[in-house]
Amino acid sequence: MPVGRRRKQAERSANLLMLGLLAASGLLAALIVLEDQVRPIGPLGSAHAHADFKVYVNGQEIDFGRPEYDYVNPLAHLHTNNPNGCCVIHIEAENVPLGLFFASLGVRLTDNCFSISGTAYCNDGRNTVRLYVNGRQSREFGNYVMQDLDHMLVTYGASDQAEISRQLASVASDACIFSGKCPGKGPANGDLDDIVAFAGGPRMARGTGFFIAPAK
Ligand SMILES: [Zn+2]
Repeated sequence: MPVGRRRKQAERSANLLMLGLLAASGLLAALIVLEDQVRPIGPLGSAHAHADFKVYVNGQEIDFGRPEYDYVNPLAHLHTNNPNGCCVIHIEAENVPLGLFFASLGVRLTDNCFSISGTAYCNDGRNTVRLYVNGRQSREFGNYVMQDLDHMLVTYGASDQAEISRQLASVASDACIFSGKCPGKGPANGDLDDIVAFAGGPRMARGTGFFIAPAK
């Protein structure tokens, strides 16, 4: 075989190898992204995290301490009577999105509307629905997967930055009491409600603030 052709062939195999590597790494990246997007909600008891949140519509705070919002969905719920915080979200499984919690209360949050009690508040050019997580705006809305000690704000309106800053500052920091991460602020175990809710005898994983679900 002439030298020229042999070199061309070698180049071609190198190119093919490179192409293969690129395709493989692309596939890997795609799989990682895919896995990131479709994390299934874990079984009840697979996590026990707590998050603080507030919702404002046109500057008015929505009261989630009302009795009809008490312990609606085991996977993510409020204990509205708890003296350490009526409105801490108790998250009892891995990968629970904010939208699942809201849906159990008849609330819907999308990139376009916030709906509650049959009324939809939608983006109209003047008013906008926004979600903030830990002080930063999030575009995930109802798909946002809640994490332990999150501070979330949902706000709808023509709010200026000063008003939004005021609303952000108003989000309580009670979740840490229930997660056992701020013992100076409340009792080490401020989460007796969840022990009762888990009738069947969950065990507290010592020092973690997380329950181990009873074996089935
Ligand atoms: Zn809890």
